[in-house]
Amino acid sequence: MIETYDLHCHSIASDGSLTPTELVQRAKAMGVTSLALTDHDTINGQQEAQTAARSNAITLIPGIELSTTWENKCFHIVGLNIDPEHSNLNQGIQKLQTLRTERAKKIANKLEKKSISGSYEAVIKAAKGGMITRAHFSSYLLAQNYVSTQQEAFDKYLGKGKPAFVSTVWADLHDAIDWINQAGGVAVVAHPLRYKMTASWMRRFLSFFKEAGGQGIEVVTGRSNPDEIRRAMLYATQYDLAASVGSDFHTPDNKWVELGRLAPLPKNMTPIWELF
Ligand code: AMP
Ligand code: MN
Ligand code: MN
Ligand code: MN
Repeated sequence: MIETYDLHCHSIASDGSLTPTELVQRAKAMGVTSLALTDHDTINGQQEAQTAARSNAITLIPGIELSTTWENKCFHIVGLNIDPEHSNLNQGIQKLQTLRTERAKKIANKLEKKSISGSYEAVIKAAKGGMITRAHFSSYLLAQNYVSTQQEAFDKYLGKGKPAFVSTVWADLHDAIDWINQAGGVAVVAHPLRYKMTASWMRRFLSFFKEAGGQGIEVVTGRSNPDEIRRAMLYATQYDLAASVGSDFHTPDNKWVELGRLAPLPKNMTPIWELF
């Protein structure tokens, strides 16, 4: 049987639009054989996803996408094949959850100053007890016709340097890698080409990540073109990191990103699943 891996996606436990069960069912329908649910800073969807995976005969790899800070910049680190119940990891994510709620209040206050009211109540309601992200705010701004696309919400209000941007110190990068490793998982740099940083900064980041116990990097993501795959592959080779593949699927509404619809991993790479 051909194995199809998708090791990065989101459910309603963070900013995805499907329940963990719906997500697993959709992954199955798309031909995925091994799926990792990697919600932002929470493991709350894992149990339901595991149950759904068993009844749909698909392998669920427990995962998470941690928000981290290194040298005042935010990096997303995916933890794969973790024990979701591990205590250090759970203590760590508790702090991130508090940070996210506090930050949501601050974002809402800043939007209020731009005469946009009601966003806090709306995002709390939309998150249904899950992690609140800027994606919840962009959906609200779109629904209320303040913007005409999600991207515009980031460009006008939520992005770095924009009026409703709240600078946040997330988990320390080294700590986050430790939590993942202590929970028996492997730490993976998410979407390495999405960080707007100079080549030399990126090199220092990857050296630090590797030294701190990180083991992988996403080489193929949902919208990677051949040139992007080649660039990510070079990082993997240069820093001796295993290669991961993940769509970063959030919602069926985004026609450009689908579960399991990923370019093949280049042949000469060590697949991350060999480390599970
Ligand atoms: P946060 O972690 O709360 O800062 O929110 C980041 C989330 O917002 C990401 O995981 C994406 O789901 C979403 N996001 C970030 N940038 C954009 C963008 N330019 N357009 C649409 N969604 C975005
Ligand atoms: Mn997201
Ligand atoms: Mn991310
Ligand atoms: Mn993601």
